[in-house]
Amino acid sequence: MTIRPLCIALFAALAVPSFVAAQAQHAHVHGQAFVDVAVDAGVVEINLRATAQDLVGFERAAATPEEEAQVLAARKAVLDHARLWQFNAAARCVAEGPVLEVPGAGEAHDHDHDHEGHDDHVAHSDWTVRYRFRCAAPEALRAIDSGMFAVFPSLQSATVQVLDATGAREETLTASANRLTLAQ
Ligand SMILES: [Zn+2]
Repeated sequence: MTIRPLCIALFAALAVPSFVAAQAQHAHVHGQAFVDVAVDAGVVEINLRATAQDLVGFERAAATPEEEAQVLAARKAVLDHARLWQFNAAARCVAEGPVLEVPGAGEAHDHDHDHEGHDDHVAHSDWTVRYRFRCAAPEALRAIDSGMFAVFPSLQSATVQVLDATGAREETLTASANRLTLAQ
């Protein structure tokens, strides 16, 4: 796993919705996403957090119409759950509304915090997206394939916290290993 050592900043102090509180201590690392996957009684909840740098291409507020279009395109892309998360068909999982939340997404908020040695950034911004699916045949649920590396090519890896029938564990996904195998 390659982690580019640029621009690491802790986001502990951000005012984020409570459901991402558990992720708030994660470092802000360009190229790396943090994903929580919880499977319980046929319901799959996925929280995705990634930097605006990886999703949008920049982290400051959009300054031009072109940049505003980039933000809108990124917002559309993160909401495209069918491209980002694919379940094995037998499980018959469908997105459940309100499926997705993009708390504070879109505009890179300007945060005031330490940035050690990366003058190219005036601010860092993370996007967090929550997805929820219900599976009609949960006993058949075996795997989730993620399209996030195809949709957001600057993402290099994702640290995934999985909570399923066998308990909690951490896995790493990459473009060449983008399948999350689930336990029954
Ligand atoms: Zn950054």
